[in-house]
Amino acid sequence: MDTLKILLSLYLILAVILAQFFAAYFFSKGRTSYRKAFSVMVFCLSVYLFGYLMIINSNNLLEMIFWNQFQYLGLPFVSVLWLIVALLYTKTIYSLKTRMAILLFSVPVITFFMRLTNSWHHLFYTKWEMRQYFGYYSLYMERGFWYYVNISYTIFCLLLTVVIYFIGYLKNKVGYTKPHFFVFLFASLLPFIGIVMILFIFEDWSIDYSALIMPVSLLIISYGILKYDFLEIRTLARETIFENNFAGMLVFGPGQRIIDYNKAAEKFFEAINISLNNYPIEHILEREPKLLEIFESESSRDFSLVIDGEERFFEIDVMPLGDPDDGNTRMLKSIRDVTEDRKIQDKLKFLATTDSLSGLNNRAQFMSLARREFDWAKRNNEELSLLIMDLDNFKVINDTFGHAAGDEMIREIGNIILTSFRKTDIAGRIGGEEFAVVLKNASLKEAKKAAEKFRETVAKRKVIYDEKEISFTVSIGVAAIRDNTRDINDIEDIFKKADDALYKAKAKGRNCVAT
Ligand code: GH3
Ligand code: MG
Ligand code: MG
Repeated sequence: MDTLKILLSLYLILAVILAQFFAAYFFSKGRTSYRKAFSVMVFCLSVYLFGYLMIINSNNLLEMIFWNQFQYLGLPFVSVLWLIVALLYTKTIYSLKTRMAILLFSVPVITFFMRLTNSWHHLFYTKWEMRQYFGYYSLYMERGFWYYVNISYTIFCLLLTVVIYFIGYLKNKVGYTKPHFFVFLFASLLPFIGIVMILFIFEDWSIDYSALIMPVSLLIISYGILKYDFLEIRTLARETIFENNFAGMLVFGPGQRIIDYNKAAEKFFEAINISLNNYPIEHILEREPKLLEIFESESSRDFSLVIDGEERFFEIDVMPLGDPDDGNTRMLKSIRDVTEDRKIQDKLKFLATTDSLSGLNNRAQFMSLARREFDWAKRNNEELSLLIMDLDNFKVINDTFGHAAGDEMIREIGNIILTSFRKTDIAGRIGGEEFAVVLKNASLKEAKKAAEKFRETVAKRKVIYDEKEISFTVSIGVAAIRDNTRDINDIEDIFKKADDALYKAKAKGRNCVAT
């Protein structure tokens, strides 16, 4: 009866091909550890099935023994890998630690070597024999001690797998994840039944039941992973993230055609009265040439827009989809509203660089800006002057009218400085009641004139505090890069000169300018 042999062979060939396909498929998609374990398990299974295919097509005992040996390259590891897949998949463990791996794999590894060296000790098989059933030959073995150790361990692994899936099934309350644990449970029960049949019926029929059952199991479990894990949940998760992302997202296909977009993208375009539809992007954005240019470009860009009277800032990023070199540009464009981020950034920058009382640059910021101007002027042979001013008898004002009145005065000086000098000049509060201004393109003479004018403005100004009119004066020291005697080469020097001049002005009786 050759028919049975042919049918069995066809079945096994199909199963081997299927197993190889799944092994490769799950390996390539194996971003999680259980998929890798599954892929290795399926590969071992295919080795085992191929061995069996060869055994039933062998004609002599030696060949059969050879292919039985071949089976044991994969077979000892199948059930333990099946167990590891279950442990990882149900998240009973999150990763396979070395110690646990050694523990789990010790029996399979010993089995592997026991089978390899069986002819020396006969602990695995004690006797070989070729027997004929239904017209084809089969290998009959008498089992040794280690065979029973191995089969016990195999049963242990499979039983544990069934238990793990069963617990997973009970524990899982979520409706749509429940059925997949059932599928896995069922798929794990099958090889278990196969093993039990081998133990008790193999001798009579000499058919390897587990080799027949395993492909069915494999099909069921692959179906489970594909249906419940890969296709549905994963795709669902990705779609949900796409649809509900805060960033607007648009998918462009070949020819800049919009293929898909999410809610946030729709809202962004609604704000500028543009509806997204199937037209090419040139058509959709013909009223917004600037935006069109951004969407046609392949680099990330910034964009700002007035929405409800408020200027909002957007970052438009681009990610190529698929192979960027295949000629068909497909891209994902994301539109992120960064207005709030910008506001916080601006505020932090303002707080870090501005003196809150006078509204001028604080000392650190003033110094860094002044240094930059100084270096630039030096390099380009330009004029540059520095004024340092100090309020006169400020201690007296504080003592007479109170500290708050003094603060009011510092505020007022800040205002006067902001309105008295050119926008390009740099002013800062460099000490308690000391201020400095860098005048660009100003010679010593011009700076002195500006300082004199400023001094007069201050002297005329009165601060009203607590219904009292308080007048105040400043003394100013002026220095320039090029003064009458020599050129100044570094910024410390010009500060020193201006400070000396200020000291001179104080000595002259205050409310005056000195150089
Ligand atoms: P001089 O004409 O010689 O400059 O006399 P002065 O009293 O102004 O002397 P000096 O510049 O040494 O005094 C600085 C005083 O300014 C000391 C301190 O009490 C006061 N001061 C410093 N920072 C502040 C501030 O932020 N607010 C107020 N109200 N007073 C300040
Ligand atoms: Mg002072
Ligand atoms: Mg002072």
